[in-house]
Amino acid sequence: MPIADKMIKMVEAASMIKKMFEEGSQMKEKYGADNVFDFSLGNPDVPPPDVVKQTLLELINNKNTSHGYMLNSGYPHVRQAVADYLNKKYGVELTPDLVVMTAGAAGALNDILRALINPGEDILTPAPYFVGYNQYAFIANANLKTVSSLDNFHLDIDAIKNAITENTRVMLINSPNNPTGAVYNKAELQMLGEVLDKASQRYGKRIYLISDEPYRKIVYGVEVPSMFDIYPHTIVLTSYSKELSLAGERIGYLAIHPEAEDANLIAGAASVTNTMMYVNAPALFQQVVGQLQGVTIDIEIYRKRRDMFCEGLSVAGYEFDIPEGAFYLFPKSPMENDLEFMNVLKEQNILAAPGTAFGGPGHFRLSYAVPEKTITGSFEGFKRALESVK
Ligand code: PLP
Repeated sequence: MPIADKMIKMVEAASMIKKMFEEGSQMKEKYGADNVFDFSLGNPDVPPPDVVKQTLLELINNKNTSHGYMLNSGYPHVRQAVADYLNKKYGVELTPDLVVMTAGAAGALNDILRALINPGEDILTPAPYFVGYNQYAFIANANLKTVSSLDNFHLDIDAIKNAITENTRVMLINSPNNPTGAVYNKAELQMLGEVLDKASQRYGKRIYLISDEPYRKIVYGVEVPSMFDIYPHTIVLTSYSKELSLAGERIGYLAIHPEAEDANLIAGAASVTNTMMYVNAPALFQQVVGQLQGVTIDIEIYRKRRDMFCEGLSVAGYEFDIPEGAFYLFPKSPMENDLEFMNVLKEQNILAAPGTAFGGPGHFRLSYAVPEKTITGSFEGFKRALESVK
């Protein structure tokens, strides 16, 4: 094999996703894009707010706009803007030194995991979970250890308590959640904080909480509690991929609670791992988002789609929890083998992602980052698929 042995499994997993992507394109070519109902990707289609383009144009036309290298953790004025926003919103006292600008949330996860984890230590995360975590754990030489969630996809605190060992370095949570759409409430997060604190004392080793929050702003009538309020040893990371629909521009950040144990040391290490990966986050888009703290796409677009999708799927006979955030539905698969059910859906020109890929077998994920007509046009196919396996 010309490629590294350790890469073989990773390449196989990546080629599954590539295959899904290619199949979608082939089906669209064969049947016409309007006749294929592709819910397999979480790629935002809602346009960025107009102010993004205006800011971009102003920056491009301004001869003082910088396109050069900067400090590897990002422009000081941009990190200051992020710190000011977080301080105002969550009542913390972050300095810009505790913020690292990154290439999206994926960049932030890679930075922080490689900064914190010794080879062979565990990252604990509730399943179902975002598939990228397998790759980030791999790059960090860490074990991704999953722990089951409750039936409604909320945290199973007892299961988490039992899964923590002396090998646990990091607890990684994602709320609003991809793939389930669940938003963890304050009470369960407080219990999680207590569990992490007690376990850290028991093992004489700080367990850090990483809160992966790229969907924080995409919620429907609920608040996402801040982990900064609950457990000081928290690193929050996010991106503008979903909240400003800028996924391809690769811009995000990580922020370390000022009272986290060894906060400055961790920030320094994350800045170094950031440098090692890709030198710095994209210069132009750092300067864009620096001016747009608190700006968000129109969430009502996603809310309308969610309601429409839930209504149609429930009439068709599917079972699911109504998601409180993100832009995914995670219904039960009517067949035990969700991979097989994906093929049944494909016969109806419907593309979805199997729950197994997210550590949530017996379910499937539908992304509603698609036009309304794709949602409404799919209902008959969903109904036929369900009838065909009954
Ligand atoms: N974390 C979660 C839960 C995600 O769903 C995604 C992308 O879909 C990421 C991280 C990576 O996001 P980004 O595009 O900002 O790197």
